[in-house]
Amino acid sequence: MAQAGNTELVDAFEQFFRNYYDNEIKQLAQQYPNEQRSLHVDWQDLYRYDPDLADDFLNQPEQLQRYAEEALRLYDLPIDVSLGQAHVRIRNLPETETPEIREIRARDMNSLVQVHGIVRKATDVRPKIEEAAFECQLCGTLSRVPQSSGDFQEPHECQGCERQGPFRVNFDQSEFVDSQKLRIQESPEGLRGGETPQALDIHVEDDITGEVTPGDHVSATGVLRLEQQGDGQDKSPVFDFYMEGMSVDIDEEQFEDMDITEEDKAEIVRLSSNDDIYEKMVASIAPSIYGYDQEKLAMILQLFSGVTKELPDGSRIRGDLHMLLIGDPGTGKSQMLGYIQNIAPRSVYTSGKGSSSAGLTAAAVRDDFGDGQQWTLEAGALVLADQGIAAVDELDKMRSEDRSAMHEALEQQKISVSKAGINATLKSRCSLLGAANPKYGRFDHYEPISEQIDLEPALISRFDLIFTVTDQPDEEKDKNLAEHIITTNYAGELTTQREQMNQMEVTQDEIDEMTDQVDPEIDAELLRKYIAYAKQNCHPRMTEAAREAIRDFYVDLRSQGTDEDAAVPVTARKLEALVRLSEASARVRLSDTVEEHDAERVIEIVRSCLQDIGVDPETGEFDADIVEAGTSKSQRDRIKNLKQLISDIEEEYDEGAPVDIVLDRAQEVGMDNSKAEHEIEKLKQKGEVYEPSTDTLRTT
Ligand code: ADP
Ligand code: MG
Repeated sequence: MAQAGNTELVDAFEQFFRNYYDNEIKQLAQQYPNEQRSLHVDWQDLYRYDPDLADDFLNQPEQLQRYAEEALRLYDLPIDVSLGQAHVRIRNLPETETPEIREIRARDMNSLVQVHGIVRKATDVRPKIEEAAFECQLCGTLSRVPQSSGDFQEPHECQGCERQGPFRVNFDQSEFVDSQKLRIQESPEGLRGGETPQALDIHVEDDITGEVTPGDHVSATGVLRLEQQGDGQDKSPVFDFYMEGMSVDIDEEQFEDMDITEEDKAEIVRLSSNDDIYEKMVASIAPSIYGYDQEKLAMILQLFSGVTKELPDGSRIRGDLHMLLIGDPGTGKSQMLGYIQNIAPRSVYTSGKGSSSAGLTAAAVRDDFGDGQQWTLEAGALVLADQGIAAVDELDKMRSEDRSAMHEALEQQKISVSKAGINATLKSRCSLLGAANPKYGRFDHYEPISEQIDLEPALISRFDLIFTVTDQPDEEKDKNLAEHIITTNYAGELTTQREQMNQMEVTQDEIDEMTDQVDPEIDAELLRKYIAYAKQNCHPRMTEAAREAIRDFYVDLRSQGTDEDAAVPVTARKLEALVRLSEASARVRLSDTVEEHDAERVIEIVRSCLQDIGVDPETGEFDADIVEAGTSKSQRDRIKNLKQLISDIEEEYDEGAPVDIVLDRAQEVGMDNSKAEHEIEKLKQKGEVYEPSTDTLRTT
């Protein structure tokens, strides 16, 4: 630090304020203390005024802040206000002082740094005692004891009568400040494939508390401090970092952080004009996984996503696409999800069970983070993936708390938490890519697929696309798959051998030939830039021809259900899905218009998905009620009939219809026992029948 005396430094800040912040200080004086209590200073301004002073601020932030605040108190103001408790909060540090959270080391202790990240947890705002006034119960003297972090300090003796109390804390005479603890986690876009994000806790006080919510992307500036791990007898020699926050600012959310150079741009535009760009894209997704061309194309569309629309009436239609892969085990679902996480510019990969207490959505918890006293609001995967993709494996295993919150998260793209005085709405503007296993682990081909999806219909209907993946032996396909997997592995063996053993008999050419088919067409880095570029620059609009194609398809589907008794094929939700998908398809070409062939491309996908899942296996009829409402028409008839049957039998027995009689009669009309039991279970769940005593049923 410069050898300047204290007054010189205070003078320097006063001069700096006069040159750069005169207006801001006058405004502060007018708003002080109720609306505003801080002067926010841009470090770059300080640097322009005096580089040495600015550097000193980085190395000795505590002292320098004191001088700056002293200068603020001494500042000549046109109105009669004392800025006694006003803060000087510095922000916008140079690049050199903004380490990644994972790069913070012991040398950074006590210096000023700035970190970027996403708020993962925030406690509620609570008053913290800064100086406690202890009133002696014997003589009434007040003894003031400043409180630092750590345990609550009591006076050793009364400052008046010198006896050891007893004391009572006088709240009116004590000083309190609002306090809050935040946990900032590295943003998903900063992480290379699969790295676990690291986190830093930030303590904030006074006017900057309660300003951010979990899920916000922020820049936090403050002083790094140490906190010893363990407590009492078990103190550890290892310490944790935390930040004493000076300022926490919400960052504009954007993809622009990605460095897209002029060359990249040229390459992207060149690629986009290829006739076979869609095939190229498909060949760039999880090349080690054989087949699944349609699923991969859909994933591409999901990465590009449709256009989010703000309507004149203030409502909003999401542009993000939700997609579900549901299928037999060992069919490569997890592998594909993992790959998407590599490509998506902002993504979070998790399992339905969730690795944190917030699970997939959000939670208010009382845990160690808030010292077991304060409530903490924690963001789950769908919030952390805001503006990106949440890849959720084993979605069917999600916790029950998440199930209900998911509906809102997927359609309105926000999550409301209201618990223990915490009322917050968190943004979750993400696309969900889910993978799930069928209810019994593997598809039973004699049962409607919809009955084997262990998610409730309301949730199912929020997915734009649902792919069912069955693992049935098929000689031709199995041969190709085997060939593919063996080649992939062989290519891997060659590369490993060459690297590990300097095996010279394998030439690079040989390796190249083998790896050719498992190399992505467009490498992941470029594809990621491509997607970011398209999302920033393309906001396509439908041509008349495209609108017509989608309208016709929809009307056609619906008309299959115009018979008095026929199943209703699709609901309007599908229509929005079709629009989103075709917008995404236009974006892949970097086009600003959605053409007829875009519409046709997605109609093809939607038709095949609907067929896979919506065909009623009992009648062979196409019935999207299965998808939208969770029951097929023939099932609904069956359920209706069964309920009628129970009600008939009920008439005959005073104590209600005995279950075994119901099963017998059902069998007589062609419904086997397991099926009937299953249907009874469903009726019970719906509250249409109940069990007044064991093994008897009554209708409601
Ligand atoms: P799931 O999540 O569907 O249960 P995984 O993604 O864990 O299945 O896949 C199991 C293994 O089988 C993986 O090693 C994967 O590479 C392989 N595999 C399955 N299907 C394919 C495929 N179509 N092409 C290449 N590999 C496959
Ligand atoms: Mg799996």
